Amino acid sequence: MFVVGLTGGIGSGKTAATDHLARRGVTIVDADLASRAVVAPGEPALDAIVDRFGAVLQDDGSLDRRALRDIVFSDEQARRDLEAITHPTIGRELYRQIHTSDSPYTVLVSPLLLEGSQKEMVHRILVIDVPPELQVARTVARDTVPETQVQAIMRAQMDRERRLAAAHDVVENHGPLRHLHERLDALHETYLELAQRHGG
Ligand code: ATP
Repeated sequence: MFVVGLTGGIGSGKTAATDHLARRGVTIVDADLASRAVVAPGEPALDAIVDRFGAVLQDDGSLDRRALRDIVFSDEQARRDLEAITHPTIGRELYRQIHTSDSPYTVLVSPLLLEGSQKEMVHRILVIDVPPELQVARTVARDTVPETQVQAIMRAQMDRERRLAAAHDVVENHGPLRHLHERLDALHETYLELAQRHGG
C-alpha cells in the first residue's frame, strides 16, 4: 500500500485538499477523526484518561476536551501521560484504516504528521502551504475565533520552514480553490504512478 502523508498548519487547506482527492476516489485516513474516535464513550482509552485525570467528562459521558486541554496545556508531564494513553491506540487505528483501504494509494491527513511517529507510516510527504496571514484570515472566517487564538495555535505548531523542509511535494494554496484542485490533479497522476511502481 502506497501512502501519502498530507499535512499543513491550521487553516492551510488540508480538508479542502483531501475533499478534492476523495472525489478522485482516493481513500482518506484522517488522524483528527481517529483521535476523537479512540476516546469515544466505551473505548478503553477514555477509561484510562479518567483513571489518570479524574472524571473529565461531559454530562453525556463523552470526553470534556476543553477541560482536558486546560490540564495538559499547563502541565508537561500530564501532556506526556495523555499522549502515552492515546498515541499507540491512534497509531493502531490509522494502521488498520490504511491497510483496509482499497484505493490505488491512500492519503493520511494529519496536522501532527511530522511531529511524532505518524510520518513513519507514509512513503511521501505532501505539505499544503499558505502565508501565515492567510492562515489567520481563513481560520478566523471559518471558525469565528479571535485572531490571537489562531496565532497561539500557530506558535504551538511546527514552524513553516521545518515543515517545508520535510516535504517531498508542496502545494501552495494562496490562490483560488481552482488552482488548488489543478495542482492536486497533477500530483494525483504522479501518485498513481508511484503507487504502481511501489506495488509492482
Ligand atoms: P485545520 O487545520 O484547522 O483543520 P485545514 O488545514 O483543514 O484546517 P481547511 O478547513 O481546508 O483547512 O481550510 C480553511 C478555510 O479556508 C476553510 O474555510 C476553507 O474553505 C478555506 N479555503 C481553503 N482553501 C481555500 C482557497 N484556495 N481559497 C479560498 N478559501 C479556501
